Amino acid sequence: MQIVKRSAAGACLALLLLGIALATGYAAPVADAQSEAEPVTLRALQSGEEPYEKWLDADRETKITLKEETQVQFQAEAAVHALYFVLDQPAEYSLTLPDEKQKQLGQNGFLHEYVSLESGVAQFAVTFPAGATICDVYAFGQGNAPDWVQRWQPACERADLLVLPTHADDEHLWFGGTMPYYAAERGLRVQVVYMTSHWDEPYRPHELLDGLWTVGIRNYPVISDLADKVASKKDLEAAREVYGEGFTQFQVQMLRRFKPSVVVGHDLDGEYGHGAHQLNAVSLVQALELAADESYDPESVEQYGVWDTPKTYLHLYEENEIVMPWDEMPLESFDGKTAMEVAKEGYACHLSQQKYSFAVRGEGSKYDCRKFGLVRTTVGEDEEKNDFFEHIDLTQPDPGEALPEVSSQAPTSSAGVDAASMPDRSTEAGTSSTSGQAEDAGIGLGIVVAVCGIAAIVILVMAAIVTRRRRRK
Ligand SMILES: [Zn+2]
Repeated sequence: MQIVKRSAAGACLALLLLGIALATGYAAPVADAQSEAEPVTLRALQSGEEPYEKWLDADRETKITLKEETQVQFQAEAAVHALYFVLDQPAEYSLTLPDEKQKQLGQNGFLHEYVSLESGVAQFAVTFPAGATICDVYAFGQGNAPDWVQRWQPACERADLLVLPTHADDEHLWFGGTMPYYAAERGLRVQVVYMTSHWDEPYRPHELLDGLWTVGIRNYPVISDLADKVASKKDLEAAREVYGEGFTQFQVQMLRRFKPSVVVGHDLDGEYGHGAHQLNAVSLVQALELAADESYDPESVEQYGVWDTPKTYLHLYEENEIVMPWDEMPLESFDGKTAMEVAKEGYACHLSQQKYSFAVRGEGSKYDCRKFGLVRTTVGEDEEKNDFFEHIDLTQPDPGEALPEVSSQAPTSSAGVDAASMPDRSTEAGTSSTSGQAEDAGIGLGIVVAVCGIAAIVILVMAAIVTRRRRRK
């Protein structure tokens, strides 16, 4: 009896130790994969007159515009597993790794570009073209990039929701919790398209990206080539003069390209009477009809096909009104903050605009960002009036496609969205997003082994107890 007990107990102990060893052995990569990557200090090896330290000071204001194509060598204090570039204007550039592998960057036009490397490197070189303005270069060790590092995915192939602000900051001011709720919380494909650009105020495109990233947008926005002009402010006619008729065609192209189920646009009166906001809304109403008309702009019909948008909401439109109570909508994907609070955080990223009296306003304000009206629908009027997607069946595959496109955005959490790899990059030499998948596989195996070990221990302990009880009887 003693022998049986001892051997059972011994076996349990051995298995327990084995289980712990296996579990911890496999758990180690789990900790690594989930931990936040540490910044790695870089040193730019000088070539030419420029003090490239300006790129390493984590300050966007200090930047260098290159007069000619320039290759800069970097030396790192520890192994670099990821890089993050901040540019003032889109540019194509290349990364050269120690094994001579080259990686082309900037092809998606991202101002903030994150690049994960297949394996750690101690040195690398970057070649920028003449005219490129580089603000910062960051390097990271192994692990997940910190939250503030923006890992953009290209613009959506197709969007569930198209959001149409005029300027950088309008998306938060007038559309409130639309982006955090539908992109991050509901996991829908949300594409933002700006009517104007702010290249003359170089801090604003950065603020734009910071704001979108903060509210959970992960697909890079489209920013039109139309420059924001003060002259467009006065009224609708002034805006028409500044932007011409070409803008409606641009909107038609965007509708046909992204084929959204729902579009959200500005107040027809321009929110506070701004001519460009008015033009954006008035033109949209026209563009919705033209996008469905195959005789209009045959080139974009050829490229994308026609599109009849099922539902369109305008901010403050008084008919078929719907109030989205952003301030009463706690979002799991933002640790319980309300959609309104997240919208305010998005607007706060627009540092240069904080000197004005604008703010994300809710109930009681004439600019209430919770109020919208259904201006056009092909799927009937709202009944419940609590969701832009009422009467839209999101379980259906996209028209013309056999299977629903797998959204690259995770359904509920922004963390999940972050973890999504960048599909366009994984096939290129020198860098890869597959290491994340390998880590995931390691995590999976570790969990399986740990669970098996624990199950074996439980079974043996129970066997030992049963054996002892039997002996006692
Ligand atoms: Zn505006």
